[in-house]
Amino acid sequence: MFPVSLEELIPEDHLVRVIDLYVAKLDLGQLGFENAQPKATGRPAYDPADQLYLCGYGYGYGYFQRIRSWRRLEAECQRNIEVMWLINRLKPDFKTIADFRKNNKVAFVTTCRAFVQFCRSVGLIAGDLVAIDGSKFQAVASSRRHLNLNQLKRQEETLDKRIAQYLADLDAADKAEGEQVVDRTAIKAALAKLEAKQQDNRSCQALMKSMGLEQFNTHESDARMMRTPKGARVAYNVQTAVDAGHGLILHHEVTQDGDDRKQLEPIAKAAKAELGQDTLTVTADMGYSNGQQFQACEEASITVYVPPNRTSNPGGETLFERQDFSYDAEEDRYQCAAGQWLTLKQRYKGDRIYQAAVSDCAGCALKAQCTTAQRRYVSRHAQEEAFERMAQRMQLHPEMMERRRSIVEPPFGNLKQWLFGNGRFLLRQLEGTKAEMALAVTAYNLKRALSVLGARKMMQLMG
Ligand code: SF4
Repeated sequence: MFPVSLEELIPEDHLVRVIDLYVAKLDLGQLGFENAQPKATGRPAYDPADQLYLCGYGYGYGYFQRIRSWRRLEAECQRNIEVMWLINRLKPDFKTIADFRKNNKVAFVTTCRAFVQFCRSVGLIAGDLVAIDGSKFQAVASSRRHLNLNQLKRQEETLDKRIAQYLADLDAADKAEGEQVVDRTAIKAALAKLEAKQQDNRSCQALMKSMGLEQFNTHESDARMMRTPKGARVAYNVQTAVDAGHGLILHHEVTQDGDDRKQLEPIAKAAKAELGQDTLTVTADMGYSNGQQFQACEEASITVYVPPNRTSNPGGETLFERQDFSYDAEEDRYQCAAGQWLTLKQRYKGDRIYQAAVSDCAGCALKAQCTTAQRRYVSRHAQEEAFERMAQRMQLHPEMMERRRSIVEPPFGNLKQWLFGNGRFLLRQLEGTKAEMALAVTAYNLKRALSVLGARKMMQLMG
């Protein structure tokens, strides 16, 4: 007799109902969303809650349909009954959705944190063990638009040579006037082009030096050229801290660093602050090995499990390694396998180098196993003790690397495969990529929470 209502078409435990309930609980004004309070005058703006529903839906549903494009979301508003139910049959156009995204970049990040806090409050995040890892996500920028100081210098040298060649051609043409026909106008035009290019090159170099930049992309100044499995790409390095309990991402950061060497301390400290704990146990791969940061983490009551990455003996396996020398802390010296002492030679920024006496090494029966030089040197890192404690911890818990892999790799696999498709951002600049990653991480965490608790339980906890 009566047409079926939208309400009847949406199952009780559907994802959109969870999103609806969760967003309704948020204080959007406090999270930093624009237009959270309607203006007294003028045409009422779209309710940010409705648009947040839409974003949440787009990304949450993106796990199945891969909808990240705002134009596709606009289309979904017109034909998809789940979206119609979620945003009360509103039909925001592409520009409205894009503006909402543009104007609320910071708010997406705070919303992501709010969901982490919710997960923590309902026991989905235990905080016993956290695994840290990083992955490169391509920026919306072409590598052809990427400038690098070294490349510019090489280009400047090439241009210098070509300009010199054209000038020499012009001289030769002057001398040979009357003997042969040379198109001087064409040479002058080519020269003018090269000189303009040279001028551009020098201005670029001067500007980059004044800004302290080694590299710069004219399409996206915040992105950096990074090594990825597909080769060098203009990208961002996304860091995540994943809780071992249910694999939820409790903290993430979009960074401009090409590698992970300086990321351990900031990410571990941020994860600890997010959890509100006095202590934390963290594991990461060898790329995070950094003596200074090992020390800093220890001082912040963070127990770290990272395989220490030390420079190996350049002589290869046949030569004694550093651990074959025993350190005498009292006298600050090393003893070698032949029982001779290596004394302090020099210090540099806290690092120390010790050397054996030439006379000791000259007559040593073990010399062939020790050094190919006149005497043997051994270096000691400024944070050597922190490296040694780390090596001991790793020896006692070799299973940590296996655990790290199983905790931290699935989230990146999911984010890249399902949400980012080709592992590429849609938004530009650091602020835009942070907002996009925050939406993706919220969607990932929502999915994880739903698969652990189920929609009904989630709604019960939210309600
Ligand atoms: S070569 Fe020198 S440092 Fe090496 S074991 Fe012999 S004496 Fe010691």
